[in-house]
Amino acid sequence: RIFGDPVLHRLAAEVTDFDDNLRQLVADMFETMDEAPGVGLAAPQVGVSLRVFVYSYPDDDDNPRRGVIINPTLSHTPLPEGEPTEELDSEGCLSVPGERFSLRRGEQVAIEGIDLEQKPVRIVAEDWLARIFQHEFDHLNGIIYIDRLPFEERTKAFEIMRERGWNRPGVSWMPGLDNLED
Ligand code: ZN
Repeated sequence: RIFGDPVLHRLAAEVTDFDDNLRQLVADMFETMDEAPGVGLAAPQVGVSLRVFVYSYPDDDDNPRRGVIINPTLSHTPLPEGEPTEELDSEGCLSVPGERFSLRRGEQVAIEGIDLEQKPVRIVAEDWLARIFQHEFDHLNGIIYIDRLPFEERTKAFEIMRERGWNRPGVSWMPGLDNLED
């Protein structure tokens, strides 16, 4: 779903049923994320208002770190002072495809939740993975990173979305089938 669809802008519900539907949802989300390709995807982005996200990001040795986190809580270190830079702070979102804006994020996070087996997951992350977790966690609370931009950047983003016919209900794209990059 693309920015403007109501499912992206509301608080997602806690997962209570750990059944085959949830398994299928998570499998589909991994597939969609990989197809995009993206480094993270939250359930509201595929139209499901549940507190679930998947992520996939290589570590320094290029080994993929992948996983699913359900019903997470997150805490992060304070946002750094000063202006964001494009080099260090450029962020994108599959729900605002093809665009990137610079945004400050906490450098370190601790995230806790559970996996599909309802086993506890706790990850302390920094830098890009910390950014991914903050971004995906925001999705579960109906916040898109555009919402966090300073006024001028935000205005620019809304301008682009108006030109593209986004920011209204029911607009979606399908990674692998649609190409919105050009
Ligand atoms: Zn996103």
